[in-house]
Amino acid sequence: MPIKSLKDLNVSGKRVLCRVDFNVTRDKKTGAITDDSRVVAALPTINDLTSRGAKVILCSHFGRPKGRDAALTLKPVAENLARHLGKPVAFADDCVGEPASKAVAAMKGGDVLLLENLRYHEGEEGDDAAFAKQLAGLADCYVNDAFGAAHRAHASVHAAAKLFADRAAGYLMQKEVEYLTKALKSPEHPFVAILGGAKVSDKIQVIESLLPICDTLLIGGAMAYTFLKAQGLPTGKSLVEPDQIETAKKVLGLAKEKGKKLLLPVDHAVADKLEKGVASEIVAGDQIPDGKMALDIGPRTAEAYAKEIATAKMIVWNGPQGVFEIPPFDQGTTAVAKAVAGAKATSIVGGGESVAAVKKAGIADKITHISTGGGASLEFLEGQTLPGVAALG
Ligand code: AMP
Repeated sequence: MPIKSLKDLNVSGKRVLCRVDFNVTRDKKTGAITDDSRVVAALPTINDLTSRGAKVILCSHFGRPKGRDAALTLKPVAENLARHLGKPVAFADDCVGEPASKAVAAMKGGDVLLLENLRYHEGEEGDDAAFAKQLAGLADCYVNDAFGAAHRAHASVHAAAKLFADRAAGYLMQKEVEYLTKALKSPEHPFVAILGGAKVSDKIQVIESLLPICDTLLIGGAMAYTFLKAQGLPTGKSLVEPDQIETAKKVLGLAKEKGKKLLLPVDHAVADKLEKGVASEIVAGDQIPDGKMALDIGPRTAEAYAKEIATAKMIVWNGPQGVFEIPPFDQGTTAVAKAVAGAKATSIVGGGESVAAVKKAGIADKITHISTGGGASLEFLEGQTLPGVAALG
């Protein structure tokens, strides 16, 4: 069933339960919000709902509490949101029961209420029918704008969603689904997929899903070394997953059979160990010394990858090309980020580190779509149906 857009939902004067992803980053010691980009990302949906006179009941998870946990209250997020909206945001100190129903009863059209952390209740992660019924009982219709939580069949995105006749995707959710669907179903060509990160085992399903539809696959990060090992090349002390070598061989064979370009690093930044300030050197692709580990793609690789990226009309990037967190091993990832930004292509970037790299390089505005959901975008690109998306249909 096609998913309804928020713009097609009649919300005027209605109580709208809106699932958002307010799982913000906070300073562990002070509790201060250090990154509120998830709140900002939900503003178009919230503003649209309030401007149409809806009673906006927001709900979200935050962290992984086991029962009520004062350290994981969403109250500071309500204050943060109020500053963004320029109007008060009410807060209910439980997401169901009397505190929630009383707060909803007090709402007028255009008001915003944030419910306390959904995960204070076991029923949320358990996709519990009774908990979902309690949540759904608070509202007349339902909007899901929490793409980052769509890959988990939790009550607020799954069981509760299905209890509403009127349900729709918020603008952030809609944008995520549209761009990722475009990459999978109707990509422009040449389509260049860039994958990196720690493990082949984490990304193998994405590789298998993208390989048949992309033209070029660029592989960097630690996962490249399992591929080099599969080709019989020396990898020194680099991270290699021995149980994935056969898988890597299969992917290399498949790429050849399907006539796809699969590029692996032709040089590397290597060091004795993974440590800040450690001395590093650049070595050729087949020259990783025994006692060294490869921690980043080298400059020739970055150049070769940039050349491919420059020809692309469609780019999907997930995963850093090296140990991005520790300079100078961020250079390969930064070079790729700049190349993606400079390409005349529809570009989609997902995954924590790749998004951080794009932001750090100051080129986020040059990316067509930055996915807010790490796990969710990965599972979407694997070709999986996300429970939170399916429940909207
Ligand atoms: P992922 O979450 O799978 O995208 O992996 C990201 C992690 O992979 C980051 O923490 C990187 O530091 C790490 N990583 C990337 N390249 C390497 C490498 N060559 N050696 C060790 N770790 C790496």
